[in-house]
Amino acid sequence: MSKIKASTALVNTLKNWDIDHVYGIPGDSIDTIVDALRAEQEAIQFIHVRHEEVATLAASSYSKLTGKIGVALSIGGPGAIHMLNGMYDAKMDNVPMLVLAGQVPTSVANTKYFQEVDLPTLFADVAVFNKQIESAETLPDIVDEAIRTAYEKKGVAVLTIPNNIPLTEIKNTVKPKHEIYQQTKPEIAPETIARAADLINSAKNPIILAGVGTKHAKETLIQFSEHTKTPVIISLPAKGIMPDTHPNFLGNLGKIGTKPAYEAMQEADLLLMIGNDYPYTDYLPQHDVTCIQIDIDPSKIGHRYPATVGIVGDAKEALTALIETTDYIAKREFLEASQENMANWWKWLREDQAKTGTPIAPEAVMAAIQKIAEKDAIFSIDVGTSTVWSTRYLQLDHHNDFLISAWLGTMGCALPGAIAAKYAFPDRQVIALAGDGGFSMVMQDFVTAVHYKLPMIIVVLNNKELSFIKYEQQSAGELNYAIDLPDINYADFAKSCGGLGFRVEEFEDLDLAFEAARTANRPAIIDVVVDSNAAPLPGKIVMDEALGYTKFEIRSVLEDHRFSKMPPLKTIIRRFF
Ligand code: FAD
Repeated sequence: MSKIKASTALVNTLKNWDIDHVYGIPGDSIDTIVDALRAEQEAIQFIHVRHEEVATLAASSYSKLTGKIGVALSIGGPGAIHMLNGMYDAKMDNVPMLVLAGQVPTSVANTKYFQEVDLPTLFADVAVFNKQIESAETLPDIVDEAIRTAYEKKGVAVLTIPNNIPLTEIKNTVKPKHEIYQQTKPEIAPETIARAADLINSAKNPIILAGVGTKHAKETLIQFSEHTKTPVIISLPAKGIMPDTHPNFLGNLGKIGTKPAYEAMQEADLLLMIGNDYPYTDYLPQHDVTCIQIDIDPSKIGHRYPATVGIVGDAKEALTALIETTDYIAKREFLEASQENMANWWKWLREDQAKTGTPIAPEAVMAAIQKIAEKDAIFSIDVGTSTVWSTRYLQLDHHNDFLISAWLGTMGCALPGAIAAKYAFPDRQVIALAGDGGFSMVMQDFVTAVHYKLPMIIVVLNNKELSFIKYEQQSAGELNYAIDLPDINYADFAKSCGGLGFRVEEFEDLDLAFEAARTANRPAIIDVVVDSNAAPLPGKIVMDEALGYTKFEIRSVLEDHRFSKMPPLKTIIRRFF
């Protein structure tokens, strides 16, 4: 049998799994693997990012968009530590990731050597597969097992590889390319469908809460909603599953949700939870309501809300079966009332978006984005007020994708997501949206987009503060502290990196900048100076929040000796009552 270097065997195994790019930064303890990747650069592209956190956040985003495993690579020690954030993002949003981390050579292992960190211990909590390689011969098989496990458990597989091991010659035992691993789905028990159908047929006010687990079942979800005349609410990361303009759609639920969704949820007599693990249980029906839950993972049934009937299986298959077994409903008062409520909600939002003044309203920026967004645009959204404005005001449909760090909620995810989106779908328009707080955490990687010629539009909502935190402090009755950010001109920064930059300070210049960025075919930053007093109020203001704002105002007067600028009273009243 012929012999090859273990590093080459590793790269051949990656190729077997159709891995065509890796995000990372080279360095001494991983250089033997980087050398093998150099030899195979036609098959596997090395995307050299500027920070390891961006490598793992991009790998996680790639996986969210495509379902394929994302791969990140770094030296051990500091580089490995930097990777943790994106690894947790993948873990918490349940997507497969492979991480290759370098390590000091075995000859100096456990001697407190330069950059030696106990990586298996560091990664113990985040990884579903976590091995330090002990021998060159086992490397290819362990890589293969790592990838299988990451797919199977929808999580992060980590290999810590001492730098001398990949250089060792081993027998070439890498198996020829095989069919990609396919996950099996549990078979749905027919009696659960029959019981669920009975409940649906007798419900007066049924409501659907659909989540990420219905992403592959968009058409079927709509069909079911139309067949049974059931209004649909979705979880935030599921945005785009149902067109925002569909008449049965009520938007999101939660602080970033809509008021009609909140009200319909509280009036429902049957809750259908489909492919979601919705965490904010205060927004679920507070009275005792019959619940049907559909989830592929049996451990999720009844996890957040008591399930009367649990259907364990794939959402698309379950919905198809339910369409066949439930009565067609021609008209439902509950849906009609919700639609009326929703029409009112959209009217309010359109009023917000019609603001033409300076300082520019973030809602108006969303309207400008909507004008230039292509039908299948991918939106990569940061965490902060940018999450609120985009989720609430952008109207997406089936062909769009919406990326966010949903469970970890890490700031700085929009730019890495946009980079990954260009590798996943090079021909689609990519729009990233971030606040100045989130963007400045990872802005160095704008040069990655420029270097690899990845056309994208990055919108920075620049209000010179951590606005989401500002309103969190206020709604909790705390005085604002430590939220200010320096005034950075991100358009100048973009130009200094070799990209395009547009600074927009006046409303009149907004559309022009977006039009120029749209046709540019180069990475562009649109730095919009937005109104720092634009409050990302919840769709439905609950009593605790109203009391918190009141306490904040009183403390502002008593302790800071000034009246603070409160959100418009009209908006507060509309969202409270
Ligand atoms: P997941 O938790 O990923 O659950 C998906 C479920 O689908 C899992 O149980 C899985 O087993 C199941 N599944 C997978 N595949 C299938 C299949 N084929 N068939 C059936 N089931 C399947 N979220 C909100 O909804 N409202 C908010 O107001 C809100 N505010 C946020 C604010 C910020 C700043 C941030 C960062 C996030 C916010 N989120 C909000 C997101 C929130 O934290 C959760 O991540 C989100 O609600 C979870 O959505 P999910 O349940 O659909 O996804």
